[in-house]
Amino acid sequence: MKGYENDGFPRRKRRKKSKGNAIRRRIGHFLLTCICIAVLVFAVTFLGAAYLYSTVKQPDLLSIAETTEQEMALPAVSTDGTENGADQAAWCLILVNKWNYIPNDYKIQLIKLANGESVDKRIYPALQEMFDAARKDHIYPVVASGYRTREKQQRLLDEKIKAYKAEGCLPEEAKTKAEAWVAIPGTSEHQLGIAVDINADGIRSTGDEVYKWLNENAYKFGFIRRYPPDKTEITGVINEPWHYRYVGIKAAEEIQNQGTCLEEYLNGQK
Ligand SMILES: [Zn+2]
Repeated sequence: MKGYENDGFPRRKRRKKSKGNAIRRRIGHFLLTCICIAVLVFAVTFLGAAYLYSTVKQPDLLSIAETTEQEMALPAVSTDGTENGADQAAWCLILVNKWNYIPNDYKIQLIKLANGESVDKRIYPALQEMFDAARKDHIYPVVASGYRTREKQQRLLDEKIKAYKAEGCLPEEAKTKAEAWVAIPGTSEHQLGIAVDINADGIRSTGDEVYKWLNENAYKFGFIRRYPPDKTEITGVINEPWHYRYVGIKAAEEIQNQGTCLEEYLNGQK
């Protein structure tokens, strides 16, 4: 019969039906694609947020990802300054500045923090305690820089010199200016592992809040603000509100109460 196929339906009706199926199929594909994109967007957002949270959380000293201890002798330094007293009675009162180089035989045992920075394992408990106390006061510090190798210190200095040269400074001027900010290798407390640069997490606290809290409280945990603004001539370093150095609670309390710097304190001890 004309207009009928073997299935018994009129041809036009069948075409209409298959067209309807195609549209439904297309809508189905479209919806599926939408769901896939939504899932993907959600996953990326979720993973991104999780990553961000983990990086913010990383410097949290409470969670040490891995604890590695390594004994290492610092590479020999050619000193043109006074040889530092390797026989210094207390390890935490060792004086290192531009006139006192790190002793050649200085040894250090490191402990690695969750964010990859390392510190001398002996200062770790006090550092942890200090961070816990800060958090109780709703202050959120992070260890921006801990132990540095001599090579790393050299690299930092080279980068600073380069930056000054890029600003148009002559080589000698660039070097002088850079050395006011970055210690010459062999004279940085970071190479001792008992000094840390502490900053804010930048989300829950600002730098000023963290520096203020440290300035008022760090001594209770044995840390001192090593380079106060009124002692630059004595320390040889300009104001660094983020650089804290462990000296032990007794010395830290005295330094805080007297308003002195480490150089003055050690001179008074002689
Ligand atoms: Zn520092």
